[in-house]
Amino acid sequence: MSLLDLLAARIRAEGPLSIADYMGDCLMHPRFGYYATRDPFGAAGDFTTAPEISQMFGELLGLALAQAWVDQGRPAPFTLAELGPGRGTLMADLLRATRAVPGFHAAARIVMLEASPVLRARQAQAIAPAQATWITDSQDLPQAPLYLVANEFFDALPIRQFLRDGGQWRERRVGLVGDALGFGLAAPMPQPALAARLGDTRDGDLVELCPAAPGIARTIGARIEAHGGAALIIDYGGWHSLGDTLQALRDHQYCDPLADPGQADLTAHVDFEALAQASPSASSALTPQGVFLEHLGITARAQALAAPLSGAALDALVAAHRRLTHPEEMGQLFKVLGFHPSHAGPLPGLPAG
Ligand code: SAH
Repeated sequence: MSLLDLLAARIRAEGPLSIADYMGDCLMHPRFGYYATRDPFGAAGDFTTAPEISQMFGELLGLALAQAWVDQGRPAPFTLAELGPGRGTLMADLLRATRAVPGFHAAARIVMLEASPVLRARQAQAIAPAQATWITDSQDLPQAPLYLVANEFFDALPIRQFLRDGGQWRERRVGLVGDALGFGLAAPMPQPALAARLGDTRDGDLVELCPAAPGIARTIGARIEAHGGAALIIDYGGWHSLGDTLQALRDHQYCDPLADPGQADLTAHVDFEALAQASPSASSALTPQGVFLEHLGITARAQALAAPLSGAALDALVAAHRRLTHPEEMGQLFKVLGFHPSHAGPLPGLPAG
């Protein structure tokens, strides 16, 4: 029995699946899901993320959140949260960098939103001896000041795709062609959720919707607006996205999203506009990751780390700095959106929205 067998049986019984249903099973099926069953990060895995590239990433994000906490009067206790923490590397780097901020650790209650049991165990190890609480639903974030980071979390949430057909939309779905999976299109239907997109698209354009994202952004923004706090959301994507951005990555190579379901990482670009619009808090301007990290002082931090290094270790540090910040690497493709209370200023490193 494989995930392909299960999906094929489901399609025979219920008809073609939305891309979101397909993505959801591929990533999080309890027995066969990509994240549910493995640790996919790092050189030996399928892909590398910013916190796995360099400790500087988590350190600088941690100091930015701690500065926002100080600026807002050091509320205690507060929730220190991460969405989709992967191996827990970012939180471990954040905790180490903020050790010297008086009162920050004593007041922090760490909460991790993570669905994968394999990764929860890795995260617990990574942050030990610090303790965390794990949740699967953002609504379980405590009613308290919230300082939150989410790196490459929203891109893993299932999306639906719709092709414009006159004033209606045809949903792109996953069906069967013989025994293999194939893409198809449902009959045209009106889609009230896409009413606004009739104004900025043409016949034949494809738009994506991430059904879970606005609810999560609303919950985070509501905690921040009501109790104080700040959120840093980092991902690849843009404002008002257009076109098919579903992609599959395996062994650091792009592959067919329908080949070997459950064996590749599936992601889609994040529509930051949908997150900002859903949040009752204020939002920053959407800022390229490279610009943000430069504002936070990544070059000075890299120079300090470089001082005792030479040879291969120094080369690796220079390469990591470049990879995180350079416009041809992650610096421009990845964007940062901040949430802050409407009565407070934006986070360090981010212009007001
Ligand atoms: N932030 C980490 C990992 C990014 S990968 C890093 O930068 O390295 C995406 C993470 O989100 C994984 O930890 C994955 O298990 C988690 N995740 C994906 N979908 C999720 C969902 N619906 N609910 C909770 N966690 C999810």
